[in-house]
Amino acid sequence: MRKTIGFIIIPILIAYIIASYTFPVMADIISPIYMFLISGIIYLQSRRIENLRIVWKLLALAMLSWGLTDLLWAYISIATNLDPNEMDLFMYLYLITDILLLINAAIYFVKNLDKWNRLQLLLDATVIMIISFALGSALFFSKIDFSEILLADFVGTVVYLSLDILILIIIVTMVASSRYKKIKIAIKYTTVAYIVYVLADLFYIDSYYSMTYVPNSISDIIFMIAFLLFTLSAVTAASDPVDYYDNSETTPNNFGKSKILWWVLIAPVGLYLMGRLSIGHLTAILFTLVIYQVMSHYVQKLLMTEILYIKEHEIKMALEKTITERTKELLISQKELEKRAITDSLTHLYNRDYFIESLNNRLKDKKPFSVAYLDLDRFKIINDLHGHPMGDLVLIEVSKRFSKQLTTDYDIFRVGGDEFAIIIPGNKAKDLEEISQRIIEIMKVPIAIDVFQFTIDASIGFARYPNDALTVSDLVKNADIAMYHAKANGAMTKHVVFSSDLIEQLERRNHIEILLKNADFKTDFELYYQPQFDSNSLEIIGMEALIRWFHTEEGFISPAEFIPIAEEVGLILAINEFVFAEAMLQIKRWNAFYNKDMVMSVNLSPLTLNSVDFYLNLKDLLEITGVNPGYLEFEITEHSAMNSSNIMEDVFRQIKALGFYISIDDFGTGYSSLSYLKRFNVDTLKIAKELIANIELHEDEMQIVKAIIKMSEALGLKIIAEGVETKEQLDILNDLNCHVIQGYYLAKPMTADALEEQFLKKDSKK
Ligand code: C2E
Ligand code: CA
Repeated sequence: MRKTIGFIIIPILIAYIIASYTFPVMADIISPIYMFLISGIIYLQSRRIENLRIVWKLLALAMLSWGLTDLLWAYISIATNLDPNEMDLFMYLYLITDILLLINAAIYFVKNLDKWNRLQLLLDATVIMIISFALGSALFFSKIDFSEILLADFVGTVVYLSLDILILIIIVTMVASSRYKKIKIAIKYTTVAYIVYVLADLFYIDSYYSMTYVPNSISDIIFMIAFLLFTLSAVTAASDPVDYYDNSETTPNNFGKSKILWWVLIAPVGLYLMGRLSIGHLTAILFTLVIYQVMSHYVQKLLMTEILYIKEHEIKMALEKTITERTKELLISQKELEKRAITDSLTHLYNRDYFIESLNNRLKDKKPFSVAYLDLDRFKIINDLHGHPMGDLVLIEVSKRFSKQLTTDYDIFRVGGDEFAIIIPGNKAKDLEEISQRIIEIMKVPIAIDVFQFTIDASIGFARYPNDALTVSDLVKNADIAMYHAKANGAMTKHVVFSSDLIEQLERRNHIEILLKNADFKTDFELYYQPQFDSNSLEIIGMEALIRWFHTEEGFISPAEFIPIAEEVGLILAINEFVFAEAMLQIKRWNAFYNKDMVMSVNLSPLTLNSVDFYLNLKDLLEITGVNPGYLEFEITEHSAMNSSNIMEDVFRQIKALGFYISIDDFGTGYSSLSYLKRFNVDTLKIAKELIANIELHEDEMQIVKAIIKMSEALGLKIIAEGVETKEQLDILNDLNCHVIQGYYLAKPMTADALEEQFLKKDSKK
């Protein structure tokens, strides 16, 4: 745009000036072209200006109006015999531009009025008015008889003059009164343009009335220059990224020291020196300026106070804002602290304290509800085998699942290491059944961390309010008891609802624990042996060692009852040592004595496998007893094998490396996945007695057993059927090609002597 101005507008202007002096008709033609171009440029620029766009559009319109008038002028002067200079019409037409420019200046002035201190502005305007009037009259109108002109041409004098003076006052006041802020370059251009325009106008009026006006003479050239300046101001405003119209500042534009005085002084003094101003005029002007200066001083003082007040207010507001922000921050951190106080740092679930607090609140409501206590089964194994960081990851994953899938309906708490609690609204069986079912679903999905996969079951105990307890401590205690029973029941994820006989059971359990701790394994325990037979020949081919405890006061205590307790309290290792040594010596002796190759099965609890010492003990025992390891087979239940990890796999491998056999006990009750059979390199499958029990009654079960046998054959595994109680079962198993039979039908577990008497001596006699 600047280039357009430089290469087109300015040359046209120069051409116009040259034409004015040499070939005025040409100047008449150039002038409207020049104006249309300028109007077009200003209009284009106005579209790029955001604020107060109207001002620039009006400016373009003013230029257009002038151009159209010029065009008419050119037409009349070229095409007709009339002299446009003689026509009053043009006086009115050019007035349109004047009016538009005034409106323009007024709009800008009013829109910006807020940025000025009014009192100072008024004062500035007044002094400028007085001085310019004094100067104006001294310069231009001294030789004109106003009363005559007034009568002769009202528009030419009153309207033109007052418009010009108004424009001048507005523009000059605004610029002259600006002190605080630098005036934007676009505004400077506009101001100069206005001043030049008004001067041209005054010059014209002056020459018009002194009858010296010649068209396309100096005053017209000055107009053209003024219009060029307007164009420049539009271009600058459009390209100035910093907005020339800015409302954010609170300090008034006219606060501070003014240079008005000096500007205003120069002119009258100069004019006086040039002899165009009388001493009287000069004195009057100087006197006005002194009064102005004194008044300004007070206004500025007032302004200062006001600004200080505003600044103070602003500081106060800023301070208040910071205080509110700080308070907010404090509130947030307080909330954070509060949250921390009630949540568990590892899992971000609610903690035990909050659990107790929540229960207390619930009790106040007196509405029925239930508490679930949930404990992860064998979580300790993960911790022991993989270390606590891994345990933590498992806990985090479990908690995540809980909060994702349960927290919408229940409050979940982590109350201890691997213990969680849930508060359930309602205490009906179906409420408890529902959540139990949901937890089963959640836990079903194996937890994958790194290369490991953990299938973790949970045991759940429920205690109901008010049915099972009325106080927080009783509720917690009873839910815990119920959970304990759920855990002791073994097998899969399960729940137990509290009932008073659970307490009796618990007491019994604690009693057995005490008895166990006081027992002397060597004298109190005995091994029984249950023979295993070849189904065809019914010849004994092996036996399972089963521990027996006959307590002097309690009588017979089932291993199904005390083995889990022994596992829990850590006595299982001592029991194992007793069982292993006894079983090894026994089978060594029997096989040697009766010249047989029978295999002795020994039960292994999963906890045993996790013990680091297990393998070393076994190795020691092997050396001490000198038994052939091929005579021994270790049984591990399907369920614990499923849950075992890679480390267990290593132990299995070590057992195998020593030469022992491995069998999977209770096969068919748990997961039917067989992948681990391969993984653990097992030798034998023992079909669970639960499956055998119904084999002659239910086709389904028969088919399952059949499938297991088929598959074992394919995998090259030995098969033992457990719990065979009838001849029918034996026959079916025979048909299905299962050749090793264990069960009451052929023999119950018995003492070594009894077994020897009934099966070995008899055999050897044969
Ligand atoms: P298990 O390993 O499943 O042992 C088989 C159980 O079934 C034995 O019960 C046995 O007496 C019983 N049984 C055998 N044939 C039949 C039958 O035809 N019908 C029925 N209904 N039952 C039959 P027991 O001796 O009471 O042992 C219970 C559990 O205690 C065992 O289950 C085993 O898990 C554990 N156990 C026994 N002795 C030991 C031991 O020395 N160490 C370890 N760690 N656990 C042992
Ligand atoms: Ca067994």
